[in-house]
Amino acid sequence: MKRSMITVLAVCAAFVLSACGSGSSNKLVMATNAAFPPYEYVEGSEITGIDPEIAKLIADDLGKELVIEDMAFDSIIAAVQSGKADIAMAGMTVTEDRKQNINFSDPYTEAAQVIVVKNDSTVASPDDLKGKTIGVQIGTTGDIYAEDIEEATIERYSKYFEAINALTQGKIDAVIVDREPGKVFVGENADLKMIDEEFTVEEYAIGVAKDNEQLLNDINASLKKLQDSGKIDEIINKYIKAE
Ligand code: GLN
Repeated sequence: MKRSMITVLAVCAAFVLSACGSGSSNKLVMATNAAFPPYEYVEGSEITGIDPEIAKLIADDLGKELVIEDMAFDSIIAAVQSGKADIAMAGMTVTEDRKQNINFSDPYTEAAQVIVVKNDSTVASPDDLKGKTIGVQIGTTGDIYAEDIEEATIERYSKYFEAINALTQGKIDAVIVDREPGKVFVGENADLKMIDEEFTVEEYAIGVAKDNEQLLNDINASLKKLQDSGKIDEIINKYIKAE
């Protein structure tokens, strides 16, 4: 009798300890913006893509249940800072500015910014954007780069889809967007093309609150395992076909 009670207590203590290990709950809440294919998008009633798949494997590895919260891209960092979400995973580029507000995991993939224009556009390189009207999604690195373009007018949209629609309607001259979403948008719009020359090379990583060092370390350990086992590449290759 006594012995079994001790066992029960020990099991409870172990449960409490592990539940406290990385954050206080057994859920891993991921803040994302599910309008960024192939990284995250809505299919039927589900949010799917590269980031949710990687996040699921990390959650499994940490013994947590993945919960995805869809929100505006420019609300994601605040959601993580306030503890509304545990991680930011949204094709999010590591930048020095963002590092002031959240910590980033080790990067899990490389990315780039590109220019999308209409087929008949005279824009052929980043230099040709001078004086043009450029569409971006608000708060993205594309938005930041657009600010550096001389005499350009920036139109900021809450979703990249809206910027692409404005482009097809001739309301703006170009869209600066991440390469893989750019490819998806061009693939869906016969009158759009992508300029080959890449603007910048970037890295995507997972954002974690500054005061959650434990979760950051756990995520980096999981990422390393998933990278070493080839799981990350497998997921990325499923969504992104090599040219
Ligand atoms: N990679 C870009 C950024 O981090 C865009 C991400 C996004 O729109 N989801 O700003």
